Amino acid sequence: MFALAIGPVYLEPVFNEFKPLAESPLKQQILSMARANGIPATDVFEFDASKQTKRMSAHVSGLLGTTRISMNDNLLKRGSPEEIKAVLGHEMGHYVLHHVYKGMVFIGLIIVVSFALLSWSFDKLQARHGARWGIRGAGDVAGLPLLLFLFSAYSFLLTPVTNTLTRTMEAEADNYGINVSRQPDGFAQAALHLSEYRKMQPGPVEEIVFYDHPSGWNRIHRVMLWKAEHVGDADIVAYDAAHSAVAASAAPGSAPPR
Ligand SMILES: [Zn+2]
Repeated sequence: MFALAIGPVYLEPVFNEFKPLAESPLKQQILSMARANGIPATDVFEFDASKQTKRMSAHVSGLLGTTRISMNDNLLKRGSPEEIKAVLGHEMGHYVLHHVYKGMVFIGLIIVVSFALLSWSFDKLQARHGARWGIRGAGDVAGLPLLLFLFSAYSFLLTPVTNTLTRTMEAEADNYGINVSRQPDGFAQAALHLSEYRKMQPGPVEEIVFYDHPSGWNRIHRVMLWKAEHVGDADIVAYDAAHSAVAASAAPGSAPPR
């Protein structure tokens, strides 16, 4: 909790330079989205993640008065304005839905249960094999490899559980975010960018076990379902008209059928 609370203001600036995003209509639109959703942020920050990675990311992070909206320079350079709004809508969803607090409670429970299981299984094994393995008890350094083995085994078995928890929260943030940003095409662009390091269409079991975010295919499918439900809305109509005009002027006669 302490690390999360001080992170955005005191820890992250040690590794990256944060500066307020230059004034632009996009910045005002982002701040407007924040105000409309009860997010106490008065500025949008940009940080130079490109020195470490090519990945695009953004955060609405902080606890107890350190709330900040920040996005990395990869997102700013590679993302379209609608894509940036879609990504920030998602991050605002995490904030409004209290995912940080829910995650801490969940991880806290996992830690307590894991230590109880660890203690129980270690004692059982020690009583049975302790003499042969030369382990006198949980306080004996010789028992450390066994403790590490048991802990790794639990963590491995818990992978689908922890992944499903985060994946569920990510899907919630997607749903919240698309209602905030109203940018289904921008969201789909972001999902395609993320496919650079995530497989787009895993099998259902693969997704449950290994994916801490919904697959790109599922994310695009869901926002297209959202778009289908909003197809007559003025902003969606205007967006589609503007973008099919761009497509038509780029390749005359090849505008997508309406
Ligand atoms: Zn997320």
